[in-house]
Amino acid sequence: MKKIAILAGDGVGPEITAQAVAVLEALEHGGVKLAMQEAPVGGAAYDAAGDPLPESTLKLAKEVDAILFGSVGGPQYDALPRPKRPEQALLRLRKELGLFANLRPATVHPQLVNASTLRPEVVSGLDVLIVRELTGDIYFGQPRGIRPAEGGGREGFDTMRYTEHEIVRIARVGFLAARKRSRRLCSVDKANVLETSQLWREVVTAVGKEYPDVALTHMYVDNAAMQLLRDPKQFDVIVTGNMFGDILSDEASMLTGSIGMLPSASLDERSKGLYEPIHGSAPDIAGKNAANPLAAILSAAMMLRYSLGEDAAAVRVERAVAKVLAQGLRTADLHEPGTTRLGTREMGEAVVAALE
Ligand code: NAD
Repeated sequence: MKKIAILAGDGVGPEITAQAVAVLEALEHGGVKLAMQEAPVGGAAYDAAGDPLPESTLKLAKEVDAILFGSVGGPQYDALPRPKRPEQALLRLRKELGLFANLRPATVHPQLVNASTLRPEVVSGLDVLIVRELTGDIYFGQPRGIRPAEGGGREGFDTMRYTEHEIVRIARVGFLAARKRSRRLCSVDKANVLETSQLWREVVTAVGKEYPDVALTHMYVDNAAMQLLRDPKQFDVIVTGNMFGDILSDEASMLTGSIGMLPSASLDERSKGLYEPIHGSAPDIAGKNAANPLAAILSAAMMLRYSLGEDAAAVRVERAVAKVLAQGLRTADLHEPGTTRLGTREMGEAVVAALE
């Protein structure tokens, strides 16, 4: 029996997470045994307990095998002091649980090619996974600061830094993810300019010897940014550092044009993970049964694959999502003439009904 924490959070979080839970419950009838427990997080936890990440929620998050996360935040919390802000819950969870690997797939379902700003033939069938290192790099490297500059005025400085250990462990996540897909891994760096990237390329190449069944290539980040727009289907899995991954994963998500469809995972060294849609709490549509629950449902599918070892169940969920789209069912964000518009709840029910 695997243990799951359900942290639904704020805004549309509870609505979309309820549909993901309904899909997981439907799988239980098919033999996937899960013990799910809810806990407050974000603004909802601040309202209830004065803390966006109460001790009881953190304790639960540490005990379980995986966390299904909704979204946190909202305009009513924007004036709070930083430690009380909802997004602190997510930052603390990442830190406390050592979630160093961020996995973001960008998939374009054939029925949704028109949602992309790119030509249909460029993105139709796109299925790329970006593995981004999440806890190192120039975002955390010391020293950093703003100081008086030689010759007058001030200068800002940051330190790009990766240890061999950090590169090895994120490279392994990339190779293992590629093994679950079409066995191609592209490592993105800036080794022609940066020392950090030279070490990165050397270490990734060495780790690659342990995975002879995965075809490893290297690409400079500027070229990768271009190739993602020119011919994104050339990629299977991309592994890269924190800053390059931050930028490339947002670029890749826009190829799909549908923020309500994209899941993500953040993993620790033992493949325990936190799974969440890439979108926020969408306060503008919260409580209206209007949000697209498919990103949350696909996050649950990623959880089945990467933390629970239930690959077959993950495929069942992904096929059910593809099936409802093929049936022309859409939430408001993706509705177009000739398709049937559903609410959040009804879309969740349609996915449950489409499970094979
Ligand atoms: P957002 O992703 O919440 O919304 C951006 C736009 O996309 C909105 O128009 C929204 O209606 C739409 N949208 C988002 N999810 C949707 C869905 N499932 N179905 C249909 N439409 C959807 O981003 P934002 O407006 O910049 O942020 C709102 C709040 O969410 C802020 O408080 C922000 O801090 C927070 N936020 C939280 C997370 C997180 O929990 N991981 C991530 C990003 C933003």
